[in-house]
Amino acid sequence: MKTNNPGKILLVDDKAENLFALEVILSSEHYICVKANSGTEALKILLQQQDFSIILMDVQMPEMDGFETAELIRGIETLKHIPIIFLTASMDSHVHIFKGYKAGAVDYMIKPFSPEILKAKVAVFAELYKKNYELLRQKEEMERLIRDLTNQKRIENELIERKNIAEKATQKAEESANLKDAFLSIISHEIRTPLNAILGFSNVLLKGKLGATEKEYVGIVKTAGENLLTIINDTIDMSMIEAGTMTFTENNFSIREIFQKINIMFEEKAEEKNLALLFTIDKDVQDILVGDQTRLIQIINNLISNAIKFTEKGTINVRVRVFKNENSLLEFSVTDTGIGISADNLDTIFNRFKQVEDHNNRKHGGLGLGLAIAKRLVDIQGGAMTVESKLNEGSTFAFSIPFKK
Ligand code: ADP
Repeated sequence: MKTNNPGKILLVDDKAENLFALEVILSSEHYICVKANSGTEALKILLQQQDFSIILMDVQMPEMDGFETAELIRGIETLKHIPIIFLTASMDSHVHIFKGYKAGAVDYMIKPFSPEILKAKVAVFAELYKKNYELLRQKEEMERLIRDLTNQKRIENELIERKNIAEKATQKAEESANLKDAFLSIISHEIRTPLNAILGFSNVLLKGKLGATEKEYVGIVKTAGENLLTIINDTIDMSMIEAGTMTFTENNFSIREIFQKINIMFEEKAEEKNLALLFTIDKDVQDILVGDQTRLIQIINNLISNAIKFTEKGTINVRVRVFKNENSLLEFSVTDTGIGISADNLDTIFNRFKQVEDHNNRKHGGLGLGLAIAKRLVDIQGGAMTVESKLNEGSTFAFSIPFKK
């Protein structure tokens, strides 16, 4: 408190002249004095204003005396620290003094008192109260800080615990993904080996001497085997793409040779359906490029196999051209004159497990993964795949891949 505002004092006395005398003495020291002419009045004031530095209280008052008033003040949490100095005319008995201290007095003054002593005492207690108040404030601030710190620590611990749980979950997920990969790789090997035997011996049988019925049955076995192989390969490819474990090689390859190989693979199937299978390489396409030819063949195969599957008459055109004059960015396209795809189905045609619902799907095998895999294989290599189609007229699937020269 500054000297021009040394504090606020509550003066309690039932005699107006006593209150006036006290006020005169203390106002000279710049204290702000609030007067109460009874214990009840004092309590009323205190319930509204709690910023008093000290209370000067007359002991002998009618109705409620100073001791009773003090005891009531002590009972109120926000008021109990305000020092009370009792003013009494009779200090004849020790019992009296004891009663006063028990009620919460910090000191006594016997009337008539010297104004100088009164001022000195009030100054000491006002100062003490100020210091006490400051300490109390600091204690509260400390407690608040400790509470904040404890809260912060609790939140930190909670975060650490959550992080641990998340790490454990990630570890578990990784472990189970690794297990899944290992399982897929083992199971695919185990299934592919006997399947290759089935397909191999079906081919041998088909080339040998067989009756018409036997030939038909072996043909069915072969087709079923091929479908099964596609399903297994697609499932493994998709799971490798999802797991991010699909790898790509970089080797020199010839576009012409690739088209020749693909032609050999499909000419028989196209002939069976009386379809023309044509390959075109635009003249500005450089023959030798660097990239993953196995994946390139896989993508083109998928598109040609669909084109043959969904075309009953006409031509399948496979073409490669230089895309947008960037001579290493090639665009491959497979165009058929087949059943086409309706506009509502075009948007989702590259989604996994997408199959356009009509009897054609049931006629042919497949999981609806082929296009999804092909598109992702193109995407991963930094390319793009598109489709244009008209129902009952045909479709063009095109994709571009940037190759190195
Ligand atoms: P699936 O292995 O079942 O053929 P794909 O992902 O290769 O799966 O093809 C998904 C679906 O897209 C097919 O079931 C078919 O309905 C449609 N589709 C794909 N290619 C063609 C095409 N060239 N002409 C008409 N429909 C096609």
